[in-house]
Amino acid sequence: MKPTISIIAPVYNEEEVLGELHRRVAEVMERQPDSWELLLVNDGSRDRSAEVIAQLHKKDSRVKGISFSRNFGFQVAVTAGLDHAQGEAIILTDADLQDPPEVYPEMIAKWREGNDVVYGIRQSREGETWFKLFTAKLFYRLIYRITNINIPLDTGDFRLMDRRVVDAIRRMPERNRFLRGMVPWVGFKQTGVEFQRQARYAGEAKFNSIRKMLPFAIDAITSFSYFPLQLATFFGFVCAALSALAIIVVIIVRLFLATPWLEGQATTLVSVLFLGGVQLISLGIIGEYLGRIYDEVKGRPLYLVDKTWGIDSVNGNQ
Ligand code: UDP
Ligand code: MG
Repeated sequence: MKPTISIIAPVYNEEEVLGELHRRVAEVMERQPDSWELLLVNDGSRDRSAEVIAQLHKKDSRVKGISFSRNFGFQVAVTAGLDHAQGEAIILTDADLQDPPEVYPEMIAKWREGNDVVYGIRQSREGETWFKLFTAKLFYRLIYRITNINIPLDTGDFRLMDRRVVDAIRRMPERNRFLRGMVPWVGFKQTGVEFQRQARYAGEAKFNSIRKMLPFAIDAITSFSYFPLQLATFFGFVCAALSALAIIVVIIVRLFLATPWLEGQATTLVSVLFLGGVQLISLGIIGEYLGRIYDEVKGRPLYLVDKTWGIDSVNGNQ
């Protein structure tokens, strides 16, 4: 029988937290009238996470698991979860208990009131640097300005989604996946509940450096906007206008002034280097899109499944 609520958690090297995650989820959900499943997607962990999932499944058949053949990344792990969850509503959570299971009943209540997406809004973010907070704010402002996709501030990936939202997302086959943007894009009735984001239960955070965050930001922008491409056009017009002006100035100077103004290598060098820079940046921007188009065209599977626990058939974009 299909469960009413599916809880999906992507797992990458989380052997220490899975037992506690299961305990807390079970404690909360057993007080709810709805049937449920906890679907753990093992994203190529290098620790014993897979064995822990197998044990949990043996002990409690409501725990189900998928193990990838290697690490495919957070967004893909979540996608596999959405592909295999059976619930009428799906709750997406981090495995590390930063998103407390105690919020689920409130999310489920809002869903029963007729909302299709219920975001978790972080009231406080303990243990985050001001740098992360500042860049996050700047990033969501920018996204809104250039795409008109309104990603609610202070939300992460912790959310409940109705079956029809999940089915809509499953129809978006793109390889560069930015779920925080894809969910608002889908539309339907979306709302939020506030919660206190906890510190990680155990283990280490994986998204903590600018090196990890920057590709995420570029993926987000390129999947939802042509703005960077239009930027090249804009630079082109500005440079063309400036050089048209410069040509007039140079002609006038040559014809009417006797002074040897605007001569020498420096002027030439500076203008050539400037244009070279602008051109390389524009090429780079085109390259970012081209690479992503190449990824799409190759049409490779999004993920490869190694093992499953409690899942009848492997489906989805394989
Ligand atoms: N995660 C994953 N694949 C990865 C990296 C992370 O599935 O390549 C999972 C991880 O196990 C956790 C969630 O994504 O459940 C969020 O990761 P983390 O807690 O490290 O990120 P943060 O809370 O710092 O954003
Ligand atoms: Mg975390």
